[in-house]
Amino acid sequence: SEGYDSFDPSVLDWDKQAGLIPAIVQGAASRRVLMLGYMSREALEITLATARVTFFSRSKGRLWTKGESSGHFLHLRAIEADCDGDTLLIQAEADGPTCHLGRTSCFAAAPEDFLGALDAFIAKRQRELPEGSYTTRLFEAGIKRIAQKVGEEGVETALAAATGDANELRNEAADLLYHLIALLRAAGLSLDEARDTLARRHAASETVK
Ligand code: AMP
Ligand code: ZN
Ligand code: ZN
Ligand code: ZN
Repeated sequence: SEGYDSFDPSVLDWDKQAGLIPAIVQGAASRRVLMLGYMSREALEITLATARVTFFSRSKGRLWTKGESSGHFLHLRAIEADCDGDTLLIQAEADGPTCHLGRTSCFAAAPEDFLGALDAFIAKRQRELPEGSYTTRLFEAGIKRIAQKVGEEGVETALAAATGDANELRNEAADLLYHLIALLRAAGLSLDEARDTLARRHAASETVK
């Protein structure tokens, strides 16, 4: 079952928005804001039924499945309404640039969650194992080798901190993060799951305060 199966469209206030609800589209892994479009009831139905994000284009005056001519579809991963049901937030996986100018996002400087994007990139390497890639060699060496690398990088990070070398600490911490993401993937987990665990603990500790 998909993450958007439980979405309840009856919370939406169509009258307030004259039948077109603005939908913010965000990269599912990068969390980067990709674009804004407008959805009619029919556009939303098609989006949910096909898992391809579809809008009502005000300039075309018709339903528009993003990617219908470019092939750069937005694959629906999650959808939610805001607090008062007049806006949608969509998480999607993009096949290619979302902006018709060839850019990833319609917003030139929209910030992204770089670690989330890196995790998605490492997962792609793991699936495709392209030749000549360090990440491919890591996955081919196996989880024990990756675990060993995490141990080494952890020790190097600790040593850099102990010797007070800030530049070395930055570099070793970066190595550690990269290898940790690869290790989680090799174990069939993802950075998101470690992040969710931290977030749950954080929420629990906030209620104690
Ligand atoms: P596509 O949906 O990617 O096949 O693009 C079809 C047409 O829709 C393009 O030629 C543009 O006119 C328009 N278009 C594509 N992407 C966007 C976007 N992100 N925002 C606004 N218009 C777009
Ligand atoms: Zn609202
Ligand atoms: Zn654009
Ligand atoms: Zn290192």
